[in-house]
Amino acid sequence: MEEKNINYERLKKLFDEVVREAVSLGIPISRNIHGPVINTRAKARFGCCKANKKTIGPVSYTIEISERVLAAGEKNIKEIIAHELLHTCRGCMNHGKKWKEYAEVFRKGCGYKITRTTSYESLGLEVPAGTRQSEPYKYVLVCQKCGGKIMRRRRCSLVEKPHLYRCGKCGGNLELQAKNTTSCR
Ligand SMILES: [Zn+2]
Ligand SMILES: [Zn+2]
Repeated sequence: MEEKNINYERLKKLFDEVVREAVSLGIPISRNIHGPVINTRAKARFGCCKANKKTIGPVSYTIEISERVLAAGEKNIKEIIAHELLHTCRGCMNHGKKWKEYAEVFRKGCGYKITRTTSYESLGLEVPAGTRQSEPYKYVLVCQKCGGKIMRRRRCSLVEKPHLYRCGKCGGNLELQAKNTTSCR
């Protein structure tokens, strides 16, 4: 249920702003959106867009925003809202080509940096205790045949002895990718 409190009022205001921006930029977001709903439990995700497929007629969507996000700056919050709104465009439930195209429209029109994933660090927030998501993937193994990637947060046998393992999809050899040195902002 929607909470009628200061947090909610603030989120709702930002939400409505982003909706207006999307419409004015010609991004075809759904007209059937419930929310925003504040999710007080989610730790490992910041926003969520659910398609309510049981309804008769056009699909409606529910957008949830994690309570924790509300401690971030307004632009960060709006970027998360924009990310979720994009999922309500036809054929955009994944982060595929169309989703990226519309994300680019948002970037050009409003300067929103919409990424597929977000971290507490990039929102300028402290990581809550016991959150797995906070720990970044340090090790990336790449299949030399199909290019598939396997991510690991910690050192493990797979990271240390990749030659003993094979790609789960195609059976190709795995190689540890050089550590990524670019910081995620
Ligand atoms: Zn998404
Ligand atoms: Zn493979």
